[in-house]
Amino acid sequence: MTKAIIHLDRFMSNFYAVKARIGECRICVPVKADAYGHGVNQIAKTSLEAGAYCLGAATVSEGIDLRKAGITAPILLFSQPHYKEIPEIIDSGLIPFVSDESFASLLNREAESRKVKLLVHIKIDTGMGRIGCPVETALYLARYIVSCPGLELAGTATHFAVADSADEWDIFYTQMQLSRFKEAVEQIKSAGINPGIVHAANSGAVILHPDTWLDMVRPGILLYGYKTVNEDDTPLLHRETLSGYEPVQAQPVMELKTIVSLVKKIKKGDSVSYGRTWTALQDTFIAVLPLGYADGFPRLASNQWQVTINNKTYPLIGRICMDQCIVNLGPETDVQRWEEATVIGGFCDAALLAEAVGTIPYEITCNIGNRVIREYRG
Ligand SMILES: *Cc1c(COP(=O)(O)O)cnc(C)c1O
Repeated sequence: MTKAIIHLDRFMSNFYAVKARIGECRICVPVKADAYGHGVNQIAKTSLEAGAYCLGAATVSEGIDLRKAGITAPILLFSQPHYKEIPEIIDSGLIPFVSDESFASLLNREAESRKVKLLVHIKIDTGMGRIGCPVETALYLARYIVSCPGLELAGTATHFAVADSADEWDIFYTQMQLSRFKEAVEQIKSAGINPGIVHAANSGAVILHPDTWLDMVRPGILLYGYKTVNEDDTPLLHRETLSGYEPVQAQPVMELKTIVSLVKKIKKGDSVSYGRTWTALQDTFIAVLPLGYADGFPRLASNQWQVTINNKTYPLIGRICMDQCIVNLGPETDVQRWEEATVIGGFCDAALLAEAVGTIPYEITCNIGNRVIREYRG
């Protein structure tokens, strides 16, 4: 009875808000991790219908699953695959990010032996400190790729470390990453090599850094409805670069709902759940919800969250268990057994929950488990 309601109409309006903002440039929709927990097949189809140019997967098996679902659009592989996965990359026509000559040569060998051309993107590490080649060797890697008969250079990319921060120094750091990236792309072009689609911007950069949009943007969390940074929080000086752009609007796509599985009265002095972290100060009604940390609802939210039943909010009390949690309905209640309870939704969204438990909305939506049915609306 626990459901993640996925509002595809909200996803679409987030998509169109991004599209309106960035104008001509293309959109790659990151659908890794089951589309941040929203259900990869529906999100992929909706994205492509709305006009996305390509999709972003993390692992080879995610890419394969998209192909099995009939997706023919380009699929970028954001993470570094294992060399043993190369045959599957080629079978499924996935587009890997390439950070080094050694992996490029393995890709080339397999592609060449099959007499196919595999599209790849060069990934440049301009300051993220993760995958990607050093800025200094980007041209060298580009030259190597274009010399490989089995490879075709279809794009050049980088990724930002602090684009979702309005802090002055973080804005400066992103601009520094951008200028390193542009310099590397210029070197590649000057050598007579076509860098393909040039792309860098994640959600933070779509919100704060128009000069990073280039040929394509890759906003994930923003399309799923969370603004991890606000235009108005930036220093005044930076706000000039944003003048001419309306603040981007985003609506959370996911809601988490369950039902009240039991209502009962407990007595003053009775404790609730494991560890006895909550004790009734007066006789009160409690509701049991059939949802717990095994569903991805964070145990750290114990005694830190509220749920909405029939437009009223009630505090969650006691430890969240693996499969159940408990709500305080107060000394009088009109809450009925089997009524719907919204655990994440409305004002109490994944961003607020993330704040309550010391994480980010990404982790909240990604963690909503397989046991929770995804129900698509709109
Ligand atoms: C996940 C990811 C994105 C999207 O990041 P958001 O912060 O969700 O916008 C973009 N690019 C790469 C390479 C990623 O791995």
